[in-house]
Amino acid sequence: MLTAIVGINWGDEGKGRMVDLLSREYDVVVRYQGGNNAGHTVVNERGKFILNLLPSGILRDETVNVMGPGMVIDLEHLCGEVQRLREGGITVTPEHLKISDRATICMPYHKLLDCLEEDRLAGKKFGSTRRGIAPVYADKYMKKTLRMGDLLDLDNLEERVAGIVEWKNLTVEKGYGHTPIETKEMMAWLREFGLVWKDYICDTTAFLTEAADAGKSVLFEAQLGALRDIDYGIYPYTSSSSNIAAYAPIGSGIPAKRLDSVVGIMKAYSSCVGEGPFTCEYFGKEAEDLREAGGEYGAATGRPRRVGPFDVVASKYGVAVQGATEIALTKIDVLGYLDKVPVVTAYEIDGERTTQFPTGERLNRAKPVIEYLEGFGDLSKCRKKEDLPKAALDYVAYLEKAVGCSIRYVSVGPERDAYVKMY
Ligand code: GDP
Repeated sequence: MLTAIVGINWGDEGKGRMVDLLSREYDVVVRYQGGNNAGHTVVNERGKFILNLLPSGILRDETVNVMGPGMVIDLEHLCGEVQRLREGGITVTPEHLKISDRATICMPYHKLLDCLEEDRLAGKKFGSTRRGIAPVYADKYMKKTLRMGDLLDLDNLEERVAGIVEWKNLTVEKGYGHTPIETKEMMAWLREFGLVWKDYICDTTAFLTEAADAGKSVLFEAQLGALRDIDYGIYPYTSSSSNIAAYAPIGSGIPAKRLDSVVGIMKAYSSCVGEGPFTCEYFGKEAEDLREAGGEYGAATGRPRRVGPFDVVASKYGVAVQGATEIALTKIDVLGYLDKVPVVTAYEIDGERTTQFPTGERLNRAKPVIEYLEGFGDLSKCRKKEDLPKAALDYVAYLEKAVGCSIRYVSVGPERDAYVKMY
């Protein structure tokens, strides 16, 4: 059974919590794209953990976790993340963490370039997390990056690193006027933060093919949501990689395999970190109340998130591009304080109504059309379908019809057991 678990919206849908729940049923959990630019928050009986790079299955001893070739890995960050998990009592060994030899290394100069460019843009910035993700993916496609497998041969790497450093300094020093980067420092960084992963690096294609052929179940875990996908998202306010389900086998190492199902994580309201068009956005007190109720602050950055009502137009599009076969609806309990629950049912663009998600300048001009459904009160104690009040069932049924996909799970709290299985 090969399943992808992906975000339907702008990210931060509560994927970490759902992967933590669902990964129980899977032998292997794989991250297939992105780096440490986003974070999953998982609360379980061992505590609260923020995962930026590691697959969420890392919190279970019996799950094997894979970081696929589609990922970009900041070695220093990985060291810190693993150390924090170990301090929290989590075991991380080569038996249950496999890192692809084809995954790309995110170097300190990628982070530096990200910061230099954001500073140059000043008021016009894109809202980068400054973790080097766009520069490292750009270099990947320029074919000038180091990959995890190179760490196995570090002693023979100096010449290549020197060539890359020389090329990078054309931008760092001659372009931005910053002090040049140095080969010696880069080699020292690779040694300090890279060599510890030697035993974890392997051919994940061989590992995953064997696992899938042996009938093992594999869960592919994405970062961010459909609307941040480099091709299908709100470009240029997207991440720098493909996070949609169709990329899962490619970014993991098994391009010839087909997914059996795609679980779309969809939030009962909207939230978004950083810049870019966000048609359903609330401002003022309405925004503050929703942000407070949902605790909407970035897991990786602590930034307050922009919030708004559920957006049918964007979510229907998200479900379509992800090819979701079922949905897990999250954070519905957060809306318990509302007497009437707002929903964006259409966009108005240049005086015309549409339910087709637009792109480019048309998206920037879109205005939300809001309708209200009945409020449903506190749902946080509900565990069975029968526990849900009629108004909540109506809200779920309304969303299913609006986005064209069935909702299998309704999450009513951050704790592992705080959910209702609908069928
Ligand atoms: P992710 O990156 O998609 O995992 O999203 P976040 O990092 O924003 O995590 C979502 C946050 O909401 C975490 O603090 C979760 O513990 C919490 N959370 C997840 N699902 C629910 C839910 O159904 N209700 C409530 N109240 N909180 C939730």
